[in-house]
Amino acid sequence: MTATAAPQHRFEISREQLATLLGDQPSYRVDQVWKGFYEQFRSVDELTNLSKGLRAELEEQLTDSLELVTASVSENGDTTKFLWRLHDGATIETVLMLYPDRATVCISTQAGCAMACQFCATGQAGFDRHLGVGEVVEQVIKAARVAAEGPTPRRISNIVFMGMGEPLANYDTTWATAQRLHADVGISARHLTISTVGIIPGIRRLAAEPLPVNLAVSLHAANDELRDELVPINKRYPLADLAEALHGYLAVKNRRLSFEWAMIDGVNDRDSDAAELAEYARSLRAHINLIPLNPTPGYPTVGSTMKRVREFRQLLEDFGANATIRQNRGTDIDAACGQLRNVYQRPKDRRIGERIPEATRVAVDLARKRSDSLPE
Ligand code: SF4
Repeated sequence: MTATAAPQHRFEISREQLATLLGDQPSYRVDQVWKGFYEQFRSVDELTNLSKGLRAELEEQLTDSLELVTASVSENGDTTKFLWRLHDGATIETVLMLYPDRATVCISTQAGCAMACQFCATGQAGFDRHLGVGEVVEQVIKAARVAAEGPTPRRISNIVFMGMGEPLANYDTTWATAQRLHADVGISARHLTISTVGIIPGIRRLAAEPLPVNLAVSLHAANDELRDELVPINKRYPLADLAEALHGYLAVKNRRLSFEWAMIDGVNDRDSDAAELAEYARSLRAHINLIPLNPTPGYPTVGSTMKRVREFRQLLEDFGANATIRQNRGTDIDAACGQLRNVYQRPKDRRIGERIPEATRVAVDLARKRSDSLPE
């Protein structure tokens, strides 16, 4: 093996870099290690098809980048939220959602977020830094392992880039992650969804990429006055310009576009909001996901009632747009983006991180205990 100057994160390095690191080992070793990491979700220690000595050398060179601080599992066991600490102390969240026949992972691309959306716990806490590809990919691998080892094992079928941060503000990492998940974990492009608040240069770059991933736009308001307030980046990329960029994406990708709309009582759930939203969505043939808002401590208003959410959905249908009410998962585990992190960043609540394998087992055990009600 060829030792490098400093250890590297094991999901940061490319296959070519792994081959270089393995040096004079036979070439099938690269396959064994790569598949062990990406298809079997194993740690270096668990690569038992390698000699003990080689494992020990690899362990010195390739480190994990995520240390589990805590994992919260919803009462019915279908949602697990992970809070990770990175090597520099920054913290990020990942959410694993189990469905009867599959699983979805929601990943973070930044520690914190600079977009300052008014109603979002992550936005309220500010921006720490961009994540590297290894830190993003590792979130999927660790969640996939929990899903695979749970009481009713699930395969990860969908990845949504909807956790902390604005994916298109960290474009290179986001795209490198999408490629790695597609090529090495085997997630098809139509099961990868990148969300954005509407970073137009990023949408244009995405349109030029070879993989036709899904695009989800966090819209939340369909007139500039309200959107400037709720989603401040709208001042730089207003709705008319955003629509033009989205038309460009659709023209080359031919994928369904979706709009995310967090339902805020008395703010964006009026009849006039439904009319504006329906018109904007119709012109782009976009599907609308209505999200009952999780309460966040720093935002004074509350989510719309479920009665109003249903009425709003009906109004959208009456205006000729397609809309679904998104199941609101994990309100009992601070599952709104950034909430768990905020709780743990209060000094009095801060806990020492556990070793990752132990903590992963804890998450699986919790999921097992709580998953009786989950349909097979
Ligand atoms: S909603 Fe998304 S883009 Fe807006 S502040 Fe929160 S994490 Fe950032």
